[in-house]
Parts: sequence; structure tokens; C-alpha cells
Amino acid sequence: MMPMLRKRHPPRYCSFCGSTAMEALPAETAFFCRRCEQTTYMASKPSVCAVVLDRSGHVLLVTTVPHPLSWDLPGGFLLSGESPEDGLRRELQEEIHAVVVGSKLVHAALDDYAGQRGHSLNLFYRVTLAANAVSPGAEVQDCRWFPLDRLPRLRFRSTREILLRLWRAKLGRRKR
Ligand SMILES: [Zn+2]
Repeated sequence: MMPMLRKRHPPRYCSFCGSTAMEALPAETAFFCRRCEQTTYMASKPSVCAVVLDRSGHVLLVTTVPHPLSWDLPGGFLLSGESPEDGLRRELQEEIHAVVVGSKLVHAALDDYAGQRGHSLNLFYRVTLAANAVSPGAEVQDCRWFPLDRLPRLRFRSTREILLRLWRAKLGRRKR
């Protein structure tokens, strides 16, 4: 089966030299810079998302300053050369002043971000913190624990999906 090809959005500048002399290559997901002769590939950006649950099964969500009405899992894009585990540790320290003591990859999903101009490859980790007493970092407006059946408005589709999955798993366990 052909992979689903997303609409291309050419980069305005070469990511190597800043030139605007970008030329689409036939594959349409790559752009060649006529000035420095480097190729920029339009790839999904890897990001890490932390699913942190407290003892009553409430999930920790954050809301950032530019999007005060929607919530998200703590986490963010990986830096170049950064491992997912290091990225989780850095993001959770920055966003909620928390120390990660355990993390396990549980799910991976594609999503859109920045008004669908970009695609993210989100790696979801079940994360254990040294302490569940958290406070919002510089770029976070608020962080709160929510019951899985009373979630606020969520910013990303993939977050809704994984939280729904968790809720269903919880219901399944209850029935047994
Ligand atoms: Zn260039």
C-alpha cells in the first residue's frame, strides 16, 4: 500500500545556509539548495510526550501560554542528537520542575502541529516522577491532574487517542 503523502510545504529558506534558492526535487518531500547544494528533507519532527498518572489514575496535563484554552501532555520536540529519554528529562524539568525516575515507551503516533503546516512523530512514554508535586515552568501557564473521564479540551488528536485508550483499558480492568 502506498504511504499517505501529505501536502508539501516548501521551506522558505535553506536550513544549512539560509538561501531562498530552493528547488523541489521530484520526490516532492525534498528540496535542493542551489547555493550550498545541500538537500533539505521534509520529515516529521520527533517529539516525546509523558503520560504521568497519580495514584487515583488522574493524568497530568499542561497548558502553555500561547494556547491557554487547550491542554496537552507534558513533553516536546527532541533537540538534534538528543535521545528520547534525555528529551523527556529535559522537557519535564523545564515544563513542570519534575525529575523523571522511570520511562517506558507505550505508543507512537503521527499528528499535525502548527496549524497542520508540520507533522510530528509523537513518542508516548509512561513516566514515573520522583514526586508528583509539580509546578508550572516558564513556558507553562498551568499544570493539573485530570480524571480520564473528565478531560479538558485537548490540543492534539494523538493525545485524545492515547488518553481514550487508557480510559478504555481502565474500564476493561474494572469489569473483570
Ligand atoms: Zn543552502
